[in-house]
Amino acid sequence: MIIVLPCFNEEEVLPITIARMSDLLERMIAGNKVSDDSRLLFVDDGSKDKTWEIIESAHNNKPFVCGQKLARNVGHQNALMAGMENAVNAGADMVVTIDADLQDDINVIPEMVTQYTEGFDIVYGVRRERKTDTWFKKTTAQTFYRIMKLMGVGLVYNHADFRLMSSFVVKELLLYRERNLFLRGIVPCISDNSAFVYYNRIERQAGESKYPLRKMIHLASDGVTSFTIKPIKALIGLGAVFIIISLCILVYVLYNYFRGHVVGGWSSLMLSMWFIGGCIMVGLGIVGEYIGKIYMEVKDRPRYNVEKTLLK
Ligand code: UDP
Ligand code: MG
Repeated sequence: MIIVLPCFNEEEVLPITIARMSDLLERMIAGNKVSDDSRLLFVDDGSKDKTWEIIESAHNNKPFVCGQKLARNVGHQNALMAGMENAVNAGADMVVTIDADLQDDINVIPEMVTQYTEGFDIVYGVRRERKTDTWFKKTTAQTFYRIMKLMGVGLVYNHADFRLMSSFVVKELLLYRERNLFLRGIVPCISDNSAFVYYNRIERQAGESKYPLRKMIHLASDGVTSFTIKPIKALIGLGAVFIIISLCILVYVLYNYFRGHVVGGWSSLMLSMWFIGGCIMVGLGIVGEYIGKIYMEVKDRPRYNVEKTLLK
């Protein structure tokens, strides 16, 4: 097993994380829960502080603490991808991803491994409650899940990027070549053979959140626009509604016109405004449909993910 931990300027929390994760891993190895070549892989996502030095010195003390330094900051999702790719290439049978700030309960990892040995390919860590999150974070997150559901993207509610995946799932995940990554949306597309473990999210052990509002909005918009072209489709519907409104206005305009108290030019202006507006929107929506198709094709996603085959 390899546990992947993305770190971006995490010098304050890293020593605590390394100590606690090492302790957990040593216990799991001693209990024969995981193989004895299991490792921790810290992915330094282009940190500007002492993060890499800390990882290096930990590696010198304990060889199972490994590191990977990215040349620049590429963001949480890409850092995770880099770590997972490295982990399966190194021969890991399963990969666990978890934030380096210990907000997710590391003590459920053995439970995840148990589920894996029972045959599940994906084990999602799901937050039971969000007591320690601010009101703002809680509401924005919940609104986001609602919008995604409305858009038809299957997400696991209250699950962030704390999960266990078998090497099969990670290898398939690597076939998704898209640049705008939203792992939470892609992983459920790969396999249904999944289980859940529940935990309480705690506060960051040290340091500050590396997800300012700007990055959160970015992630959320990636979540919507990487998975669905529904917003484009909605344009056609909206245009159709406008054309229907123009029909109602036709009645209203004619009524006023025949009663005679209208300013010259009002009737034709009123009508054409709504009608043309509706036509433009439908037109945009149709063009958008094609662009949406191009977009989906350009992603070049795998059409299916083969789990087993008996054909040699
Ligand atoms: N992170 C990263 N690259 C970034 C931003 C964040 O690798 O550009 C890492 C960060 O070090 C942490 C994890 O992603 O391990 C989650 O970030 P954070 O805890 O700041 O997010 P929050 O829990 O506040 O949503
Ligand atoms: Mg955090």
